[in-house]
Amino acid sequence: MKVLYWHRRDLRIDDNAALYKALKTGSNVLPVFIFDNNILDDLPKDDQRVLFIHQTIEQLKSQYQSYGSDLQVYYGNPIELIPQIAFKNKVSTVYVNRDYEPYALKRDKQVYDLLKLKGIEFLGAKDHVVFEKNEILKADGKPYTVYTPYSKKWKALLNPFYLKTYPAEKYAHNLIQVNNKTTLISLKEMGFESEQKVKFPSPKVNESVINKYDVTRDIPSVLGTSRLSLHLRFGTISIRKLATIAKDTNEKYLNELIWRDFYQMIIFHFPHSVDKAFKPVYDNVIWENDKHLFSLWCEGKTGYPIVDAGMRELNQTGFMHNRVRMITASFLVKHLLVDWRWGEAYFAEKLLDFELASNVGGWQWAASSGCDAAPYFRVFNPTLQQEKFDKDFRYIKKWIPEFGSKDYPKPIVEHKFARERVIQRYKEALSN
Ligand code: FAD
Repeated sequence: MKVLYWHRRDLRIDDNAALYKALKTGSNVLPVFIFDNNILDDLPKDDQRVLFIHQTIEQLKSQYQSYGSDLQVYYGNPIELIPQIAFKNKVSTVYVNRDYEPYALKRDKQVYDLLKLKGIEFLGAKDHVVFEKNEILKADGKPYTVYTPYSKKWKALLNPFYLKTYPAEKYAHNLIQVNNKTTLISLKEMGFESEQKVKFPSPKVNESVINKYDVTRDIPSVLGTSRLSLHLRFGTISIRKLATIAKDTNEKYLNELIWRDFYQMIIFHFPHSVDKAFKPVYDNVIWENDKHLFSLWCEGKTGYPIVDAGMRELNQTGFMHNRVRMITASFLVKHLLVDWRWGEAYFAEKLLDFELASNVGGWQWAASSGCDAAPYFRVFNPTLQQEKFDKDFRYIKKWIPEFGSKDYPKPIVEHKFARERVIQRYKEALSN
């Protein structure tokens, strides 16, 4: 008997729920990865995430080869490829770890239907989050839309079962053994450049950072956060392992992992929130959408140093500190009155750790339109934020070399004016 295991956002062997389940059946497991052209076709040709995935797949492939097996890698449309590969290899079942984004749900439903026609089973496991879908519900059986009561229930329901590991390597002898190893498709063959322009953070958990996370997390000039978001996004680290460390080390850190679960649950139950206000009345806001001001924001030339430093960090590294993500997002939406969807799309293009659920969640939080968002009359003052979180300008000077010189731009909008304008604009929208 043979089964197929399809890697998606779970690019690791260790502690991998679906791979473990597939191997434990005792059947021979054929591991597969597909570079999905539906996703890749829309990306810039120097996209660094594709490079990251490619490097990771290369490592994963050699790990499989060290077990006498091999990872089969394809480039194309998974909706066609998975049923074809499954049928050709006469597998009885296809195993995957579940993905909760609208595109993935639709894709998986189509794959499921096609496999069913051929009499092949399609089985999903939970791996990307600690709690999923309907595991944490309100007393009335409906999903939570507010974080605090959700997180309380999350903590109350947590027990060792939810954090147990799935040591797939223990059953690696069940992987299909191959004599002729295949070579990995190159980035060039898929139309991508292979020049690495940014540094990828290490997947190593820095426990000393997590230990003092509650005191350092808001200071963008220090390494005060774990920088694991890219690895959580692509599953190069296990959420269960990280939550196990977090729960015994730092509650504030655990809370952030719960935000991540929360947004995955929200996107699953409320897929409309990807491009519509979670609270529909907020789609009445009339945006200025000034293209010139938007491009100054993108380039980090707004004249508000904490905003500009954040945007330049993003442009140069593919990362931005969380505190600064909140400030830059708020500035775009509230000071410049640019539709949050523009900012969300810009972050989606630039962030190495881009995760649809968290990005939409973060942007709708900043725009006050989200499920559990900042109130609309709360407008971050970028100068006060700088005084509080970068008082000695260390972060700012790192990213803005011309800061303090005549070359640094004057503010493109005045804070008091912008604040009054946005509050008025939102008031009008909400009274409609
Ligand atoms: P840490 O502070 O060390 O946190 C640990 C992990 O918890 C993170 O790696 C992440 O997986 C999770 N996490 C932390 N904060 C949040 C949060 N607010 N919501 C959901 N998960 C969280 N995070 C993404 O992973 N992808 C995105 O595309 C993304 N877009 C964002 C956009 C905006 C406007 C805002 C305000 C926040 C966004 N975040 C996003 C959340 C957060 O900023 C990043 O997860 C965090 O900065 C990543 O750095 P870290 O790994 O050092 O995080």
